Amino acid sequence: MTPAIQYSLIIPIYNEEATIPELYRRLSQVMEPMDAPTEIIFIDDGSQDRSLNLIRDLHHHDQRICYVSFARNFGHQIAVTAGLNFARGQIIIILDADLQDPPELIPEMVEIWRQGYQIVYAKRTQRRRENWFKKLTAYGFYRVLARLSDVKIPTDTGDFCLMDRQVVDQLNAMPERNRYIRGLRSWVGFQQTALYFERDPRFAGEVKYTFSKSFALAINSIIAFSKVPYA
Ligand code: UDP
Ligand code: MG
Repeated sequence: MTPAIQYSLIIPIYNEEATIPELYRRLSQVMEPMDAPTEIIFIDDGSQDRSLNLIRDLHHHDQRICYVSFARNFGHQIAVTAGLNFARGQIIIILDADLQDPPELIPEMVEIWRQGYQIVYAKRTQRRRENWFKKLTAYGFYRVLARLSDVKIPTDTGDFCLMDRQVVDQLNAMPERNRYIRGLRSWVGFQQTALYFERDPRFAGEVKYTFSKSFALAINSIIAFSKVPYA
């Protein structure tokens, strides 16, 4: 019998050919000493570059690597949702491909999980070398959402997190189709805590969350989580 998977890493990929080799190197370095059955799930969100080829190559020489390949670009939240459905591990970790979510935080997240937390979300204390427009709009957005919602959605917190199997089972059972994962993750409860970190710039390539995609995510989150106008 194959041993039960302990760690599932979910990584959404949209045109990340320039980051995948370094991402793989850093992930391997972090996961090796953790020494437990691991799956690294790449969700290729309809990339038009060589990302899918690179992922397939990795899959052929490393059995921890699995992947889901989308027929077109559906968007980051849908990619993460597919990953959550696919993941088999006891501990599930979501991180971006561009190394803005440093894999080196994973052991610390796991340590916090061992202390009894089922959700450990990474909270940015600083965004290094991101443009002022992104910093300003992100700063404003998180605070507007916090005001409008009665779900305590932490500010300056993305999807980078660790979740216990129990949490992921709940998220997967929820009927929501248009998902704002950070909001749902706050809503489900359990013991949650933040791990603070400074966000590095993208390792390589251009930002894939275009302004229109970020705007759509913001609108979505407000529609889903605002208590205005009825309360
Ligand atoms: N991404 C995706 N589909 C998209 C846009 C982005 O899967 O349509 C992935 C991207 O490859 C990266 C993550 O989502 O792994 C975050 O994207 P990005 O770094 O561009 O966003 P930001 O850092 O600005 O949040
Ligand atoms: Mg990024």
